[in-house]
Amino acid sequence: MDEIIRTDGKTVYPIIFPVNYSNMGSINCYIYQNGNEYTLIDAGIKGEEFEQFFYRKLSDYSIEIKQINRIILTHFHEDHTGLVNKLAKDYSIPVYASQIAITRLKCEGDYLQKKLTFYQELYNQYGVMEYAIERLAKMENTLHNKEKVILLPTIHRLEEGQQIGGLQIIAVPGHSPDSIGFWDKENGWLFAGDFLLASGMTNALIDHDEAGEVINPLMQYIDSIKKVKSFSIEYVFAGHEAVFQNLDEVIEKSLSKTEYKLQKLVKKIREGHHTARAIGEAIYGPRFAKHFIFIISEIIGLTLLAQERGIVERHWQGGQWIFQLKES
Ligand SMILES: [Zn+2]
Repeated sequence: MDEIIRTDGKTVYPIIFPVNYSNMGSINCYIYQNGNEYTLIDAGIKGEEFEQFFYRKLSDYSIEIKQINRIILTHFHEDHTGLVNKLAKDYSIPVYASQIAITRLKCEGDYLQKKLTFYQELYNQYGVMEYAIERLAKMENTLHNKEKVILLPTIHRLEEGQQIGGLQIIAVPGHSPDSIGFWDKENGWLFAGDFLLASGMTNALIDHDEAGEVINPLMQYIDSIKKVKSFSIEYVFAGHEAVFQNLDEVIEKSLSKTEYKLQKLVKKIREGHHTARAIGEAIYGPRFAKHFIFIISEIIGLTLLAQERGIVERHWQGGQWIFQLKES
């Protein structure tokens, strides 16, 4: 699973950190070597355990930390940015990310306040406030202690189409609005972040744009998949789970999972579950509370997709959204 991939002049050194506290299997980052240049793609998760693992892998690969020319980030999630502050501070390694990621990583402007307001309103509108208390309290806490989450170094901006260290930037929003992939055209290598995972798990998380408006993540995700299909890709180096070569299969699996979930949602609405909460509880039972953040995200995303396709419509009633099938 973490074997070195090498062609003439280029090498990928995987750093696959196994985790057992969630179903993501592992937290992955990669060192991409292009001639004399070394690029670290993503930076793992905070904490002693990962840090030790990271340095052990570097030593296994006979790579010195000082050889790393830059860190590039696929997206802003904290399991991809763990060592950024340390590496940038101790070794002055420059850091790069997309503009949407920079706003979030640097907590620019009123980002944290906007985020809190967005989720408060969202959970309220979808009638799931009582499940959201813990998450909202955490967000509020972060808002007042942003030094705990902020990335300290200057982060340089990456644009779609740009080349860095021999890799081309491809915007692949869906998992998160800021997600970008890094493509080695010559070898057909794609560093995909969490956009595509080997299991075909669709984890398009509900999120907001610059204006604080809800983004339809599944639509973005489907569009990104269509886009990536036109690139020639041999190997996918993902942010979790295994490195994989069967991209078409993974895409098919992922899209059919989404369609299956959409059908399930429609079925539950037909059976008389008309609120996000009722739908979530009907499909997931007690898991709804346990994995609330992911499940509500999925349900909201699916209702948005179903509306976009003209299958479902919603109306405002009793202070929340009520869903109905459009067919009569
Ligand atoms: Zn992520």
